[in-house]
Amino acid sequence: MTAVNYVGRFAPSPTGALHFGSLLAALASFLDARAQQGEWLLRIENLDPAREQPEAKAQFPFVLEAFGMFWDGPIVYQSDRLAFYEEALCKLSSHHLTYPCSCSRKEIQTRTHSGLYDRHCLLHGPTPHKRAGYRLQCSSGGICFTDRIQGTRCFDLSQESGDFILKRRDGLFAYQLAVVVDDHLQGITHVVRGSDLLTETPRQIQLQRYLGYQTPDYAHIPIASNATGQKLSKQTAATALDTKRPESQLIRALQHLDQAPPPELMSEKTSDIINWAIRNWRPQQIQRTERKAVF
Ligand SMILES: [Zn+2]
Repeated sequence: MTAVNYVGRFAPSPTGALHFGSLLAALASFLDARAQQGEWLLRIENLDPAREQPEAKAQFPFVLEAFGMFWDGPIVYQSDRLAFYEEALCKLSSHHLTYPCSCSRKEIQTRTHSGLYDRHCLLHGPTPHKRAGYRLQCSSGGICFTDRIQGTRCFDLSQESGDFILKRRDGLFAYQLAVVVDDHLQGITHVVRGSDLLTETPRQIQLQRYLGYQTPDYAHIPIASNATGQKLSKQTAATALDTKRPESQLIRALQHLDQAPPPELMSEKTSDIINWAIRNWRPQQIQRTERKAVF
């Protein structure tokens, strides 16, 4: 057996059914992994039980299979992994990189007008007898990374997000912490996902540096927007993928990803479309833009 030096993943949140935007992220990450003989893992990011839709979650594996995308290993659920996130939080705290914060979003908004956290609880301590969450004390200075599609990007966390939440006041772990811990523990080498997560990446890199983790290779694909420029999402009521007609939706997704599928591919079956797409995967053809309209 040869060693796998590519491990990718698709990591949807079960807050609604998979839609065309989800298909783009799934397909791009799948093709990128398979074109390099890599592994492709499926992780369900279900940290927030109140927002979880059990039926949507149960459908995810069937939808991916219907679209010809088969993952490696068991499906990982973040709800089973809280002990790992707690351990990482403890490690950060033992290095004095976190501090408790009792501020509500409204309090921060009233004080700062921008929503950018003002380090109130770092300077004054949290309000006694009030529930507190934990924030990461971010380093000053910029974080730069080179995205395979979007090019080199630099962010100054102190100006853009401030010290961000790792564990919420209600006890839920934040997405940022969980995703970084999971990418590390699952040995993810390549992250391919929608450009709506581009601005989350520097926060994740900050955490990786603090925790002594490797930073994976990032590629953020242009997200799909509707005619009015809104991102296709559960919030904008994007239609669920139709598992009875995967072929035409796969072709549309390949077009969106600038893979120029030939017209004759339209009449092929799902597995042949996928095999063509793996053989002909050209990520360098993907346009450097964060958003593209689909009609
Ligand atoms: Zn605070």
